[in-house]
Amino acid sequence: MQAWVIGNWKQNPATSHEVDVLLDDLCAAMNTAKQISHDNFAHCQIMVAPSLIHLAAVQARLKDTPILCAAQDISAHSASTGAYTGECSAQQIADVGATWTILGHSERRQYHQESNDILLQKMTHALSQKLGVVFCIGETQAQYDAKQTLTVLDNQLTVVKALIDQQPELLDTLSTRLIIAYEPVWAIGTGKVPTVSEVSATHKHIKQTLAEFADSQANMTVLYGGSVNADNADSFAADPMIDGALVGGASLKAESFLTIASAFDK
Ligand code: PEP
Repeated sequence: MQAWVIGNWKQNPATSHEVDVLLDDLCAAMNTAKQISHDNFAHCQIMVAPSLIHLAAVQARLKDTPILCAAQDISAHSASTGAYTGECSAQQIADVGATWTILGHSERRQYHQESNDILLQKMTHALSQKLGVVFCIGETQAQYDAKQTLTVLDNQLTVVKALIDQQPELLDTLSTRLIIAYEPVWAIGTGKVPTVSEVSATHKHIKQTLAEFADSQANMTVLYGGSVNADNADSFAADPMIDGALVGGASLKAESFLTIASAFDK
């Protein structure tokens, strides 16, 4: 199974110049890796999700490289156009050449009150425009402490169940167009990480839950996210239940990001 390592740049970097420097570093490191071994990153798909203002430029720059480009979010209101000030639709994202979008990141759930209903709408719009979806789920520290992790995840995964119920025709392709990213909220940007065996058991539960929705979804890619860095990536990559990583802070430096991708490329 191919691994995925996805960089969520969030509201970074501050300037277009810094975006260019990061892309220069990424492309140079990819080229060096290719010179050393032609099948470098053959087993790991790399993707970056820049902030919306930089998306078109980053996509244009990466279009002849193996690195894919994703949005961090899309409008819930409409898949195409409309009077929705400040929003950007799935169609507009696809039009600039990006092929995926992140949805349901905990920062969006927290600061923008994104409910399951809103996320179902966004997921439907994304898939209608042929965008793949990286769907983030995860429990807070309080929920983790109260041992509610699996209940919380089950509730968040009802979005996928509702999508399948509404559009069973998606089943044939869904496992290639939907990726689940398990991101404990308490591990994001904190330096705290669950143990690999905890993540592994949680991923097993997620995969079993998806298989209960439909047998064909048993092999969906499930990534771990939350303080993954160049030092701990190998331990996550060694577990067969962990199909890759969604990376925040460590994706803002080409060296650490590609070290993480190399760990999952093995
Ligand atoms: C994230 O925001 O998706 C994330 C995983 O961040 P970090 O790697 O910085 O914890």
